[in-house]
Amino acid sequence: MNFDAIIQAIEDYGIIIIHRHVRPDPDAYGSQAGLGQLIKQTYPNKQVYLAGEEDPSLTFLARMDTIDDNVYQGALVIVCDTANTERIDDTRYDKGDKLIKIDHHPNVDPYGDIVLVDTEASSTSEIIYDLYVHAKAAGYQMNNEAARLIYGGIVGDTGRFLFPSTTKKTFQYAAELVTYSFDRTQLYDGMYQMDENIARLQGYILQNYTLTPSGMCSIKITSQLLSEYRIKPEETSQIVGTLGDISGIKAWVIFIEEANDIRVRLRSKGPVVNTVAAKFGGGGHPMAAGATVANWEETERVVRDLERVCKNYQG
Ligand code: AMP
Repeated sequence: MNFDAIIQAIEDYGIIIIHRHVRPDPDAYGSQAGLGQLIKQTYPNKQVYLAGEEDPSLTFLARMDTIDDNVYQGALVIVCDTANTERIDDTRYDKGDKLIKIDHHPNVDPYGDIVLVDTEASSTSEIIYDLYVHAKAAGYQMNNEAARLIYGGIVGDTGRFLFPSTTKKTFQYAAELVTYSFDRTQLYDGMYQMDENIARLQGYILQNYTLTPSGMCSIKITSQLLSEYRIKPEETSQIVGTLGDISGIKAWVIFIEEANDIRVRLRSKGPVVNTVAAKFGGGGHPMAAGATVANWEETERVVRDLERVCKNYQG
């Protein structure tokens, strides 16, 4: 893997701008800001910027920088946790001198001059820790803040170490990261404490989902429902996993109506669902994927497709 090329590129550039994907999650923030902290700690004289729109629910992890266009001139740009260029936040990622992609999603769009993709990694944050392990010989230094961010990213993308993507290496890295000084309880509160209106929507989902004999489960969250519960579409991340522990459910889809289209959020306990997402112009991991569709008629096609995948699944 391209660890040495990345370590060399970081050494070569004085200005480093780190991007991640739109609609960020803790792994997007953790890998982006964790890498930023690692570089700052190791090279105090380099200028490091974090790019992308801030998500109010994630500011407890890190704050983004305001970056002038001219900063990109001659800069190294690193994009974390983003499979394809359309999902990079923001669009100036190609305005630098050199571009690096670091990711753990299937490498559908191998953009960049250097590509480091490891689909076996639980999270992009785990790859950042891998990078640190490789770069120790070059003098890289971890600090408490980098450890907090990387650990938070790993916890987020492994569903608190529950998902099958969690490996021995994930636990080893987590064990090393918790030796640094950061408040884990505070970190978990930031990630998992739920507003009451989200909890009530979770209740609605549990009362109203539909489940077919083949184990396909679906639920539609209309914009009217969201406004009844006083929830913004982007606040629904916490409810996507809600259905995962119900026996009989093999794969599920949650449709969330947004201003101009409908977001499709697919999750699975076995059947591969990113193939379903890809049919509708989306993508993601085999067990967690997503897409965007134009109307409710199209959601019925997604349901039919997911039903077929569940029926064919031998697990
Ligand atoms: P989400 O339900 O938004 O948490 O998405 C789950 C996974 O699916 C993420 O890791 C994304 O990589 C992927 N994903 C979600 N939406 C899209 C999309 N519109 N296009 C490509 N990948 C997506």
